[in-house]
Amino acid sequence: MKIIMLGAPGAGKGTQAKKIAEKYKIPHISTGDIFRANIKNGTELGKKAKTYMDQGLLVPDELVVDLVVDRVNQDDCKDGYVLDGFPRTIPQAEALDQALARLNQKVDYAINVEVPDENIVNRMSGRRACVGCGATYHIVFAPTQKEDVCDNCGGSLILRDDDKPETVQKRLGVYHEQTQPLIEYYTNAGILKEVDGTIDIEDVFREITNILGE
Ligand code: ADP
Ligand code: ADP
Ligand code: ZN
Repeated sequence: MKIIMLGAPGAGKGTQAKKIAEKYKIPHISTGDIFRANIKNGTELGKKAKTYMDQGLLVPDELVVDLVVDRVNQDDCKDGYVLDGFPRTIPQAEALDQALARLNQKVDYAINVEVPDENIVNRMSGRRACVGCGATYHIVFAPTQKEDVCDNCGGSLILRDDDKPETVQKRLGVYHEQTQPLIEYYTNAGILKEVDGTIDIEDVFREITNILGE
């Protein structure tokens, strides 16, 4: 099962992608996580990506596409995967389709997690990320058991630099301009599925499992 998660920044793509990966036993591939790991390790890719991410801009397609195509060609991806944060532009979607077509494969589902802009800034200002393992929480909607301590690894939690309100507004603008056209792209491909992202995390996941099957 090859799945793409679509939605605004903060819509809950990562939260749902993790749950999908666990239930259906497929890898969760997050381009944001890959970039953040590269930044943490001080790689050349990380240095390049950071200048865009800090401004709330997309990293250029040429720095993203090969990375993802290589990743989905790895052995653990042969029964499927859930892509979170990729594609984010039409050229990225076309490059993915072309790479898959060469292997006689295609994407099965593009799941659009719908959340209106008004809800997004609140979501993002409450998001906390673990510095140790990258796990994501929310101070109100998905709190840790112990304040500011990761349930997974005991690491400490931070507000991502790009989750500050000014940058969130910028990212929303970028989303509408460059990423939202993918909804039409995957509608035309006949694989778009919409879920309501404003309801509880578990209820969103139930909508998704209704689509994907038990
Ligand atoms: P969010 O979870 O809020 O949607 P991500 O963690 O997916 O954010 O991405 C963080 C940042 O990493 C983006 O704002 C962008 O700068 C960069 N990024 C991630 N994926 C891509 C991509 N497919 N194309 C271009 N830039 C990307
Ligand atoms: P994305 O990957 O789309 O940027 P995340 O999965 O990181 O979004 O979610 C953004 C923030 O909103 C996180 O703090 C997360 O815990 C919280 N969140 C995710 N889904 C929901 C939901 N259905 N209701 C309330 N908060 C949510
Ligand atoms: Zn952690």
